[in-house]
Parts: sequence; C-alpha cells; structure tokens
Amino acid sequence: MRRKINFHLYLVGGISILLTTIFTMMIYYGFIEQQTKRDLRNYAGLLGQNYVLSGHNIQLYETKSQDIRITIIKPDGRVIYESAADADQMSNHSNRPEIIEAKKTGTGEAVRYSSTLENDTFYYAVLLDDGNILRVSRQTHSIMALFLGVLPLIIGIGMIIFLLCLLLSNALTERIISPIEKMAENINSLENNLAYEELIPFAKIIRMQNIRIIRQMEHIEQEKNKIQMILENMSEGFLLLSIDKNILSVNHSAINLLSAKKIDYLGKSILYLSRNEPLNNSINHAVKGESISNDIFIDGRYLQIFINPVYDKDEIIGVMCILLDVTEKKESEKIRREFTANVSHELKTPLTSISGYAELIENGIAKQEDIKDFAKKIHNEATRLILLINDIIKLSELDENSTELQLEQVDLLDIAKECESMLLVPAQKKKVSIMVVGESCKILANPSMIEELIYNLCDNAIRYNKPNGNVTVAVRAEDTHVILSVEDTGIGIPEKYHNRIFERFYRVDKGRLKSTGGTGLGLSIVKHIVQQHNAKISLSSTVNVGTKITVMFTT
Ligand code: ADP
Repeated sequence: MRRKINFHLYLVGGISILLTTIFTMMIYYGFIEQQTKRDLRNYAGLLGQNYVLSGHNIQLYETKSQDIRITIIKPDGRVIYESAADADQMSNHSNRPEIIEAKKTGTGEAVRYSSTLENDTFYYAVLLDDGNILRVSRQTHSIMALFLGVLPLIIGIGMIIFLLCLLLSNALTERIISPIEKMAENINSLENNLAYEELIPFAKIIRMQNIRIIRQMEHIEQEKNKIQMILENMSEGFLLLSIDKNILSVNHSAINLLSAKKIDYLGKSILYLSRNEPLNNSINHAVKGESISNDIFIDGRYLQIFINPVYDKDEIIGVMCILLDVTEKKESEKIRREFTANVSHELKTPLTSISGYAELIENGIAKQEDIKDFAKKIHNEATRLILLINDIIKLSELDENSTELQLEQVDLLDIAKECESMLLVPAQKKKVSIMVVGESCKILANPSMIEELIYNLCDNAIRYNKPNGNVTVAVRAEDTHVILSVEDTGIGIPEKYHNRIFERFYRVDKGRLKSTGGTGLGLSIVKHIVQQHNAKISLSSTVNVGTKITVMFTT
C-alpha cells in the first residue's frame, strides 16, 4: 500500500509539473507571438510613413536595429535593400507567402521555423505607394527552445517535488495505515478501534469471519481432544503411520504394549518405537495395500496385531495398526489344554486301580481274605474320584463365570466356625487342633463360595500338618478391609513353589498324594473365588515351621 501511495503521489506530481510547464510555455509563447506581430506591424507602419514623407528614400532604413531586419523588395521580387545582408546577393523574393499576400491585400504575414537555428522568424510585409514592398522580420526562440531553456528549472522543481512527495507520502501512509494496523492488532474489538467509517462493512465481515474461524478452531480442537481422549483411554494400542512409516499418532497403550520408552515419537520412524521383525514386516506389507492380522510376541507378552492400509481416494497414504494384548487369552487357552490333559490323567489313575481290583475279584484270582481289602481300596479310589469330579465341576463352574454372583452380607467368623465343626473329625484323626479366633466381620460375598474357600484352606492346613500341630483361623477388620488368615504349624512349602501351588493339579510332593488325599485343585478353586470377590491372597510359609495364607477382602 505504501508503495502504491508513493507511486501515485510521484505520478501526480510529475504530471502536474509537465502539464503546468507545457501550458505555461504555450501561453508564454502566445504572448511572445502576439507581441512580436504587433511590434512588427507598428514598426512597418512607422517605416512606411517615413518612406513616403522622405520621398522614397531608402537610406532612411539604415537604422541599426539589433533584432529587426528590414527588406525592400521590388514588385518583381528583387531585393533592393536588406539591413542584415548584402541586397545584391539575395535571391528573388516574389514567391515568399508574405510578399504574395502583401501584393494582393496590401499587407502580408508569415512565420517560418529554422531547425538549424532552432528559432522562429516572424515576417510582416506592407505594399508601399510606389509599388515596392517593405518587409520587417524578427527572430524569436521557438517553443521547443523555450522549453529546453527552462528544462533544468523543471528538473530542479521536479526533484524538490519528489522529495516533498517522499516526505508527504510517508507521513500520509503512516496516518492512513497506522489506524488500520491498530485495527488488525485488536481484531477482537474491531468496533472500538474503527479507523475509518468506510471500513465498517469490511470490519463487520472480518469480525464475523474471525468469530467463525475461532468457532471452527474450537470445534476442531474439541474433536481433536475427543479423539485424543478415546485413543489415550483405549486399552488397545493404536498406531498411525505415514506412507514413509513415520509415526503420525501413537497412544500410551501401544507404547506400553511394545515395551518402548515413554518419549515423544511423533514424526519419528516406526523403528524408534519397535524393531520387532514380524511387526515391521506386516507394516511393509500393509504399505503395499495388504491387510494383515498377526500374532507377535514382545517382552513376555502375546500381541494380536491388525494392520490396514489407509486410503485417500485410491491412493495409500499411510498405515493404521491396532494392537491387542492376548497374553491372558493365550495363557488361559494353555491352562485349559493342560487342564484337560491333567483331568484325563487324574481320572485314569483311580479308575485303572478300581478296574484292576475288580478284575482280580471277577476272575476269582483274589483270595477270599483279600477281597475285603480290595473292596476297601476300590471304595477309597471311588471316593477320591468323587472328590476329584466334584472339584472339577466347581472349577469349571467358576471358570465359566457366566452367572452373576449372588452376593449377600456374610459373617466370616460364623462361616469359619462352621468349617471348624465340619473338619473336627479329620483334624482329630490327624491329631491336629483347630481353633477360630477374632471378631465378627461382615462382607458382601457369596456364602457358599466363602465356605468353600475357608474349608479348602483349613483342609490343607490339617492335611499338611504334623501330629499335635495347630491350625488357627483368624478374622479381623482393618480400615476398609476384612482379613482372614489360616495359619498352621505344618510341613510348610519351599519358597520356589509359592507361586506354583495355585496352579491346577500342582502338588509340591507328588509322592504323598495318597496319604494326604488331595485333588490338587483346592488352591486353584481358592484363587478363583478370591478373584471373583476382588480380594487379594498372600502366602508366607517356612518349611517344617508352618504356613500362613491370608485373604484380604475390601468392604
Ligand atoms: P491338594 O488337593 O493337593 O491339597 P491344593 O491345590 O489344595 O491341592 O494344594 C496344592 C499343593 O500345595 C498341595 O499339594 C501341597 O503340596 C501344597 N499345600 C497346600 N496347602 C498347604 C499347607 N497348608 N501346608 C503345606 N503345603 C500345602
């Protein structure tokens, strides 16, 4: 804008100077022309009168006038007198326009331009009474010569005007533009900072567009935040890559699942995030347009990945990747597979034994005195089978987890006492004393499951005890928790097995299976019940000293 204003000011200045000069020149030249013609006319008149009065004496003209030339021409065109040159040397003047005109009308005028002298010559001719023609002439500067004469002056004035324009335009543009700049700085309160009234409609449009832009930006920001929140709260990993495999978006879950450092990955290559070969191979395929679903193993975790190309119209512009942690699923599948194998094995052992004894009796091989003993063994194995099948059923019910838990307020102390009375006989058989201590504490739980839990813990505490040993069941409340502990003075569990005893069919001493009479499922059932009640289980045990299992419920 500044440049435009400057340019226009210079243009106006320049044109004004030029026009003023041209018009002044023309007027000035007009004056000179008029004046010269008038002077010549008067002078010629005066000379004519003198010529007549002096009796046609030519000598009279020898007046030495600086700028006026006098010529007397015969009617045939011969020059008989010339004040500025030798009359004899001069050519015939009969064809000069002013002479022709003077012969016809008595007076004649002409102006001739000399390009070599760059001036104009004015002629005035009068027909004298003796037939001769008197001609006077004067030279003046041509209009061009006048113009060239004043040109340095014009240039000087032009430069002054240029400087003035420069100062003026700077001041003017500053005055015009600074309020507009102020308006632009205070775009939010345009009405209060209006520079010119003419700008009101313009300001209104700007204001409206500004509001619209702000709203749209807010909307975009909200949408962005929404997407960001969804991505960040997703347990699934999300990854968006450009066609060059640079990271455009990655959520926390993806960083965690890929066990990567928590840094800013935006704009960086996927290799900064993970160098896992199967993952990178799948991405390479997706970049070429394939949709891939794959299982990968990273840092002890199984991840299921779904990778798809991202299209804009028909062109692939990037790759989107979803990562799911399927470790638990994989592990429970593994546990289930092992469980099925173990169940078959566990059932086969007592059944083989039962079948063997029954066959001996059937074939009459067994002696009469042994039959009672064999029957007892068949009975024991059958009892074990029933126990085993009961535990398998309980566990598969817990596994299914389909029905919602029937919860009610249950008193842990009461249930512990019931279990105590149920286990009194087995405890006496093992010469173990059992006692329940503590206060009455209520929790929201499933009563039969809680009974199963306490019964299994107490049953283990009796079975893995030593003669004259003790079992103490304690119930107490602590802040927002209710704590149940079952402590025994039994054989204890070596530390390396502390985690494993909760696995299905896991037994520390496989050889003692028969004597202890367990199924290997008791603690798995306990662990399940604890999980379903959102409780926590912990174990402390020392070999030959005893074991304490603690369950912490949240009230
Ligand atoms: P089981 O039917 O064999 O007792 P559990 O799942 O109840 O099966 O227990 C798993 C294993 O943990 C047992 O075989 C035993 O070796 C060990 N165990 C459980 N409770 C105790 C305890 N109180 N003292 C010592 N060892 C125990």
